[in-house]
Formats: sequence, C-alpha cells, structure tokens
Amino acid sequence: MRIVTLALAVAMLAAPVLAQQAAAPPTSLVREGVTEKLTDHVWAIPDGSASLVPNVGIVVGSKAVLVIDTGLGARNAQTVLKEVAKVGAGKPIYLVTTHVHPEHDLGAHAFPADSKLIRSKDQDVDIAASGMNLANVFASRSELNKELLQGATYRKGDISFDKDYSLDLGGVTAKIIAVGPNHTLGDTVVFVDGVLFSGDDAMRPQPSVMAQGATLTHWLATLDKLDALKPTHVVPSHGPRGDASIIAGYRTYFKKIQERVGALKKAGKTQDDVVEAVTDEMVTQYPDRARLGGAIRAAYAEAK
Ligand SMILES: [Zn+2]
Repeated sequence: MRIVTLALAVAMLAAPVLAQQAAAPPTSLVREGVTEKLTDHVWAIPDGSASLVPNVGIVVGSKAVLVIDTGLGARNAQTVLKEVAKVGAGKPIYLVTTHVHPEHDLGAHAFPADSKLIRSKDQDVDIAASGMNLANVFASRSELNKELLQGATYRKGDISFDKDYSLDLGGVTAKIIAVGPNHTLGDTVVFVDGVLFSGDDAMRPQPSVMAQGATLTHWLATLDKLDALKPTHVVPSHGPRGDASIIAGYRTYFKKIQERVGALKKAGKTQDDVVEAVTDEMVTQYPDRARLGGAIRAAYAEAK
C-alpha cells in the first residue's frame, strides 16, 4: 500500500514536469500564432528561449512594416511573414537583422523580392569575413537545421548605412544603430516606440563576446548608449523580454569581470590563471563557462 502511494506521489510530482517538457518550444523553429503586441506599433514573436530561434520584431506604421530578424532559413521566414500578414497586411516590408548569425539573418533571401533589406556596412564586413562558416556548423548539428538551411544565402542589402539610419514607417520612426564590435562587428539595435530591440548586446542569458577586437570597454559604452534611449521595453534577440534592468545586468557582469581581471593582471597573473580564478569566482552565479572565458580573455587583453 505504501509503495503504491509513493508511486502515485512520484507520478503526480513528475506530471507537471513532463507537461512542461512537452510544451517546450522546438529548437530552430519560429512559432506561429504566439505574436504579442507590446505597443500601438510594435509586436514580438517570442522565442520561448528555444535554441537557434530569435525573438522576432514586427513594427507597423501607416505606410510600411519593419521586421527585425528572420529566423533560420526560408521555412522560418515564411512563418514570420504569416505573422506579419496578420498585423500589417499589404504594406511594403523593410527588414533589418540584429547581426548576421544564421538564425537572425539567413531567412532574408526568402522575403519578398520587393522587400528592402537594411544593412550596416559592418554586417557586410562580417559576411565577407565569415561567409557560411557558422551556417555549416549549424547544418551539421541536425537534419532539421540542414533542411532549413537548404539554399540559404546571405542577401545583399538594398539600403546601406554606416552608423545609424532613421526609417519613417508612417506615424512611427525606427532608429537603427550600429553598435559593434561586441557580439559581432555588425551588431545592430533598433529603437522604436519606446521599445529597444537590443540584439545580443543586452539579454538575460550571458553575453557572448565573439567579435574580433571586442573589448568590455566598448561593450560597456554600448550599454550606456542603450540606457540613454530610456526604453520602456527591451526585446533581446534571445530569451525573455523585460525592461532596462536587462541592460543593467550586463553592466554588472562586465564591471565585475573588468575589476577582478584588472586586479589579478596587475598582481602578475597569466591569462590562463586569471581565466581559471575568475571563472571559479563567478560560475555559480553565471553558469556558462565558455562565455565567462571569452569575456575574461577580452578583459585581460585590454587591462593595463
Ligand atoms: Zn549571434
């Protein structure tokens, strides 16, 4: 009797966990029918924190629509376009990407031919430097990714900008700003109607310092710039949305790393020693060791 009761109790405990797992959004696929309205002009398709899925932005003015990020490959772009049709049917489409990594940018080729892709010059540099390297890595990870990336190529921009670009959509203007090198050289953020699409430059998950020559000093200056916009909503390119506290979280993380790395370097420690020591200090709170290591190495290189 006791055993049966125990088994039942275990089953009851396990049930919600299983239900949660079943409801977890799929990897690599932008979801249909979950688009949420944030302001009079701004919608977002949440990623549900699924890997290789971006949070997609849709901004609707009286004259035109701006889409922020495409999803991985043509199939995801089609899903995004279905959602766009629900909130901005028939309007000319502009497209911008937060950076050129595949799940953000490699659906652009599947957007309508008359849509206009807005690219920073830095994104052109990233594409020229890395091409399909990361796409090939993603494609090798699963059959689905391989299928999604079939025929994908980087689309050439229709509108090119250097540092920033203002786009009047009719009754609402999007400010598009190049902020790299941080996660990539071509990091791009969009501020519109109080909503900041912050790319990988401010998220809840730990930052991935990947750009050639990226420094924490530059990333911290970027965070100051983002804060100065005084966003009411922050929609990062991955993970939960929130407010400006998302920006503050990155500042805390980078400042702590800068301070600890600076002190240890001054004390004569090697880079390897510093990576090990600071990772040990911070890994309980910030569990992604690879991302910690990347940030610590960048901080070590720039520390006096
Ligand atoms: Zn990325």
